[in-house]
Amino acid sequence: MLTVNAIAATSATEPLVRTTVERRDLGPRDILIEISYAGICHSDIHTVRGDWGRVAYPLTVGHEIVGHVTAVGPEVTRHAVGDRVGVGCMVNSCRECANCRAGQEQYCEAGNTGTYAAVDRDGTITQGGYSTHIVVDQDFVLRVPTEIPIEAAAPLLCAGITTYSPLAHWKAGPGKKVAVVGMGGLGHMAVKLAAAMGAEVTVLSQTLGKKDDGLAFGAQHYYATSDPATFEALRNGFDLIVNTVSAPIDINQYLSLLRLDGTLVSVGAPPEPLPVQVFSLFGGRRSFAGSSIGGIAETQEMLDFCAERGIAAEVEVIGADQVNDAYERVLKSDVRYRFVIDVDTLR
Ligand code: NAP
Ligand code: ZN
Ligand code: ZN
Repeated sequence: MLTVNAIAATSATEPLVRTTVERRDLGPRDILIEISYAGICHSDIHTVRGDWGRVAYPLTVGHEIVGHVTAVGPEVTRHAVGDRVGVGCMVNSCRECANCRAGQEQYCEAGNTGTYAAVDRDGTITQGGYSTHIVVDQDFVLRVPTEIPIEAAAPLLCAGITTYSPLAHWKAGPGKKVAVVGMGGLGHMAVKLAAAMGAEVTVLSQTLGKKDDGLAFGAQHYYATSDPATFEALRNGFDLIVNTVSAPIDINQYLSLLRLDGTLVSVGAPPEPLPVQVFSLFGGRRSFAGSSIGGIAETQEMLDFCAERGIAAEVEVIGADQVNDAYERVLKSDVRYRFVIDVDTLR
């Protein structure tokens, strides 16, 4: 066992504190990673605050992890000491079900093992990336291309893949009109990725406050959802809408913006239901869908795509003692566009 420095939540309401977590001894196929940076995803906040249900405290969250390999088990072949690597939202899956065999480990029929707050194969609760080191099975460790600045690569491991996967699945590309609802951590990556795939991108944000940034990320159009005229102007306008909002929105209003056979996919995961009026779907044989992160092979494909296209996250690097303030800013939509913890401040 390795005892390493970390930040943990001790309850749903108290600030996160400095502490330590235990990392298991390296198994034959395990990799020890010295973490450099860990992104702050809104899912970390939902989880520690109990939005999605009860969790066991103390809990260390963080599933946008980048760093270097410092030790490998004897059977490890995929990565070597010194490699620049990343870990995203899952650290294991059954590997045997149809979905795992198809490279869709995120949809493992037995449930994938989340990077934090999940029961690990040894019965302990997984602890995430707000810590100096992590031990992960080699098959769930990604190669992080050196073209991407390492701190700006961290958010790709969740925000990047979570938006890349539905954009690829619903074929965002030339001739497709794509809207992105909410321009936070996931949303800003959705804009960059959809634009790089060749789609015509529109941002639907609460206000026009981030318009210049949205256009710089590759969007052609930018509208404020606080203005009711937006919903009139854009009616029947999109092939695909990616909802990244962390709070409930009136989903029917957004469904009315889809063209015939269009899809609104929600990656945003508010704790409350998003009620759908079937008549909003009837209006154009529309679909309402959900999408969860992405498979391991697809995550590698996304990282390589970002390296090739010069895409990375926009980050604000913070120290370990600023995490609680960062949480409050994320909750106020005051993030441009991902907080990333410099893990050296934990050593
Ligand atoms: P984030 O950085 O906080 O971004 C969310 C954005 O939603 C905000 O920047 C804001 O954009 C908009 N927003 C927030 N509150 C709103 C409200 N009350 N009404 C309308 N718009 C609002 O969060 P994130 O890290 O991108 O995560 C977004 C959601 O995706 C979270 O629920 C998270 O748990 C979920 N998630 C899902 C997956 C998955 O696999 N499906 C993976 C990761 C995260 P504007 O300022 O532009 O309006
Ligand atoms: Zn996440
Ligand atoms: Zn499986």
